[in-house]
Amino acid sequence: MRKKIVAGNWKMNLNFEEGQKLTSEIVNMLKDENVKDVTVVLNPPFVHLYPVKKLIGDTPNLFLGSQNCSDKTSGAYTGEISAAMLASFGANYVILGHSERREYFKESNELLTAKTKQALAHGLTPIFCCGEPLEIREAGTQEEYVKHQLTESLFGFSPEEMSKIVIAYEPIWAIGTGRTASSDQAQEMHAALRAHLAGKFGKDLADEISILYGGSCNPSNAKDLFSKADVDGGLIGGASLKSRDFVDIVKSF
Ligand code: PEP
Repeated sequence: MRKKIVAGNWKMNLNFEEGQKLTSEIVNMLKDENVKDVTVVLNPPFVHLYPVKKLIGDTPNLFLGSQNCSDKTSGAYTGEISAAMLASFGANYVILGHSERREYFKESNELLTAKTKQALAHGLTPIFCCGEPLEIREAGTQEEYVKHQLTESLFGFSPEEMSKIVIAYEPIWAIGTGRTASSDQAQEMHAALRAHLAGKFGKDLADEISILYGGSCNPSNAKDLFSKADVDGGLIGGASLKSRDFVDIVKSF
């Protein structure tokens, strides 16, 4: 059975106090409302990670992730944060290859392979993001585009390594725009990506990989998206900053 996952990506939002408040609210709601069977991941900015970890405590099914990690192991790389550092205080997940990092920080498919290697080497689960820009969707070549992102970054990994990676399909035209992919569009792409993974790593392995949808997912559309056979959860941006909305999305399976 594939894991159902809802991960919140806070991006570069919230000060210390706001981050503490949001986390406490989410922890309390998940406990009070007895939310089960969904893996929930909070991905705050680096400075929030340790205090958020403390607040998560032993909350069942609630995990900590970061929004990035270095492709390097350690050393003279000013401003970088290594996967080993993240793992050392109990982070479990790391978002890699978000379209904002690809676009604004020029992260290439090759660099993302190196980051994924670092994450895996230190026991972090990569949430590997992929997705096409609007012009590619309009040209109708989105499947080739996104499959190529996976091929270039991930197809050098062993089946064992690949089995530890979570995929997040995030059409760029849907991120932060309020324009969600329809559940049919999401399902079509997720099924194509699963088939692509099956072609390389085998059907059994591909069937075990969680593929999340991201892009203007909210409490009103989550149920429809999550009802699709190959949509195993969501990577949530804007709506992850509001505790009620985020937990309602978690409860949408
Ligand atoms: C994201 O950035 O990962 C995302 C899905 O953002 P939003 O939900 O705000 O579209």
